[in-house]
Amino acid sequence: MRNSKLKHNLVEFGISRALRFLNKNPRVIFYHGVDFAENNHSLHINPDIFEQEIAFLSKHYEVISIHEYENRFRNNQFNGKEIVVTFDDGYKNNLTIAAPILKSLNIPFTVFISTNHIENGNYFPTTIARMIIRNNNLSFVKIDCLKLKAELKNNMQREAICDAVIHILKHSNIRLVNEICHQLIENISHDEYEELCHFHKIEAPMNWEDVIKLHTEYNCTIGSHCKDHFICNIYQTEEETKTQLKGSKQIIEEKLHASCDYLAYPNGIYNKGDVTAYAQHTAKEAGYKLAFTTVTDRLSAKSNPMLMPRCAARFEMDDFIMKLVLKPKIQF
Ligand SMILES: [Zn+2]
Repeated sequence: MRNSKLKHNLVEFGISRALRFLNKNPRVIFYHGVDFAENNHSLHINPDIFEQEIAFLSKHYEVISIHEYENRFRNNQFNGKEIVVTFDDGYKNNLTIAAPILKSLNIPFTVFISTNHIENGNYFPTTIARMIIRNNNLSFVKIDCLKLKAELKNNMQREAICDAVIHILKHSNIRLVNEICHQLIENISHDEYEELCHFHKIEAPMNWEDVIKLHTEYNCTIGSHCKDHFICNIYQTEEETKTQLKGSKQIIEEKLHASCDYLAYPNGIYNKGDVTAYAQHTAKEAGYKLAFTTVTDRLSAKSNPMLMPRCAARFEMDDFIMKLVLKPKIQF
């Protein structure tokens, strides 16, 4: 039996309901964007499926705000049915598509923003790599700082080069990341890049006006995702890590006239090096009350407030329902 068919049957025959009862644990779910994506590499969920998922959460779980989640964590008062809805990066469609859906269902939510992207409108590094390298018009890519010169003859080559560059972007110092992005863009003309960004406008971040509107009109909690979608790994200097964690919090507080209490580490796979001990210490020192990873651990009263678990949303309904009942894994 195919995996999707199996999941469908487990949902259909009520097994998921039994598992939901057995596997109680508060969950913080993270999405990225909500929009109609043009390819299956996208981080953006189809709006109709998103609405179905949120309606499902609203019916079968207790969807609470991040503040309430923090309160229950501090006081060890979870009932295990809690869900917190969060979004990473700060895409414009969080305001234009996700927020109206969430408001219509009365769902509290949090968006973690990368403040320099909000400030300058630049697309995220991995998005730039995907846009440029997977761009069908490009037959050759050159990135001098990586000593990379590669022909892009077919889709398989494009995928392989793109994956390799993305891996480097996720495991490098911020200065090298910026240099790679700059040199990637230089493979095409300014006008071509503008055109490419327009074609991929689904990837555009919000600006400050959008963020303020999201916060004031939709009562959205705004958290930090560093200044430059900065991955807090060992390749970064301590000084830059501190600037990213403290600076993003400070600018959010200045722009919104509200405290920024929560952080989501970009990439956030703490058990694979995305969050150094220094970053955890500095996040605490900066005054974040909770800092979230992208690892689906079980939550307990003893969980580290600077390494809180989260659960990635799924783009298909049955998959989403089964993930929620199976993850985090039950520990006996
Ligand atoms: Zn991110």
